[in-house]
Amino acid sequence: MKTVRKGGVAQNAVAAWVTGSCLCGDVELEIGFPARWAWHDHSAASRHAHGAAYATYVGSWRSRFRITKGGAKITRFEDKATRTVRSFCKRCGTPLMYERGHSPQMVNVPRALFANRTGREPLYHIGIQELQEWTYTGEKLVPLKGFPGVVWTGPKRKKRLDLADML
Ligand SMILES: [Zn+2]
Repeated sequence: MKTVRKGGVAQNAVAAWVTGSCLCGDVELEIGFPARWAWHDHSAASRHAHGAAYATYVGSWRSRFRITKGGAKITRFEDKATRTVRSFCKRCGTPLMYERGHSPQMVNVPRALFANRTGREPLYHIGIQELQEWTYTGEKLVPLKGFPGVVWTGPKRKKRLDLADML
């Protein structure tokens, strides 16, 4: 077997790879199974970059990460102030990688790109103090009358955690 050395680690040491892809399918990437860790990122930057309430990432050692298709279709946005680089598909805009200057040995990939298990549960939260009040956090849902397939929290407003009640 041919040994591909990248970042000082033999990639054939990886027993299994997990494949992820962007929405249009132009780009495919792989990480070694199991991933290093996984977490939910509630920071404003990740919220904006994903256009979502929060982003869930799987962190992989760079030595256990590879682009297997469409490398030329990837474009990047470098945020010099935060020393972060976000890469995404030129064609469909799917976020692909999130790299942070303070941990150059890691590549973080949105969990949603993987159809299969990555070997890590997202047990951790970063920036939880930035959780938005409109984020769905598991409230009970009921069918919306007259709209098949639509559920909602009902007419009652979402119960908010009120600091005044806690003091
Ligand atoms: Zn794409």
